[in-house]
Amino acid sequence: MEFPKWLFQRAEALDMHDIAEKVIESERLSAEDGQRLFECPDLPLVGLLADIVRRRKVGEKAFFNRNLRIDYTNICNKKCLFCAFDRLPGEPGGYVLDPQQIHDRVVEHLPFGITEVHMVGGINPRLPFSYYLDALRAIKSAAPDIHVKAFTAVEIAQIIKISKLTPEDTLFTLREAGLDSCPGGGAEVLSDRVHDELYPIKIGPQQWLEIQRLIHRCGLRSTATMLYGHIETRAERVEHMIQLRALQDETGGFLAFVPLAFHPENTEMSHLPPPSGVEDLRTIAISRLMLDNFDHIKAYWVMLTPKVAQVSLSFGADDLDGTVIHETIVHEAGAKTPLGLTVEELVHLIREAGKIPAERDSLYRIRRVWN
Ligand code: SF4
Repeated sequence: MEFPKWLFQRAEALDMHDIAEKVIESERLSAEDGQRLFECPDLPLVGLLADIVRRRKVGEKAFFNRNLRIDYTNICNKKCLFCAFDRLPGEPGGYVLDPQQIHDRVVEHLPFGITEVHMVGGINPRLPFSYYLDALRAIKSAAPDIHVKAFTAVEIAQIIKISKLTPEDTLFTLREAGLDSCPGGGAEVLSDRVHDELYPIKIGPQQWLEIQRLIHRCGLRSTATMLYGHIETRAERVEHMIQLRALQDETGGFLAFVPLAFHPENTEMSHLPPPSGVEDLRTIAISRLMLDNFDHIKAYWVMLTPKVAQVSLSFGADDLDGTVIHETIVHEAGAKTPLGLTVEELVHLIREAGKIPAERDSLYRIRRVWN
């Protein structure tokens, strides 16, 4: 690809021309490059470089899908300090949706044309293995063709623990009951330091990566997340990306990377400010640059706000997630974003950003392009 002269001059003025050259030549960036990008004072330059990679990957399309969230229980015994959603067993306000309620919620939303159910919950020690299977079957009995993206690696670890099966057989049994892919939550920041400070009872970095490896080995795809903007350092964010990139080299099982902006309200860390819009855009752009083997970078509008997510489509992101009807986890932490967007709103956001809206299924096969 021809090296645009003005871009070279701009990068050279900031001593970033070697990184710009690597991006133009599709060379892999190092951890040190990632840290220099975080220190670079010229955010638009970082965004421009990320935009080159985004365009190379997907052209001018920006993706979304029609998805329904089902947060099946908020009862959880893991006590993560950044969480506003959880209730301890026995604490007022705890709930569990029974399989019939899950079924009915899917039926209720079929008229919206949903193609995916995204189902996650807390680690509720009272739920037996059969509950998870029945929850999956309830969704498939309501809509046999719908894609069920369910259970983060943290939940998978819990399900393996109670299933009395091998990890592989647990996954195969979940698949038979209707599991189609897994969401990437629970990674938080792949750092022992952050794990020990913020969520010491929950699985740590190595176990999260091991469960992703298992998911991919069992033929399921997943996404990967990073919760940023709390106590982690920028170096730890870069290290997180490097670890994901290495696993993607090994398995190729990740569909997308989803940077998640921390929402401090109603959490044990409510004294911290939320990440700024600049930090959101910078983190998205750098993830696009570092994760050269990920096809998609998702701007999760629920956490970013639709406005920041829209701008991020020019900073390396190519996917706005979806309609996300009924999200509760981030809204418990004070998110002021709507409880779902319509397809028309998503198409408008993407068009206004100068991109071509493309409705996708859960595996990024295109269902419709709004030319
Ligand atoms: S983040 Fe998940 S595992 Fe941690 S307390 Fe909240 S619901 Fe439980």
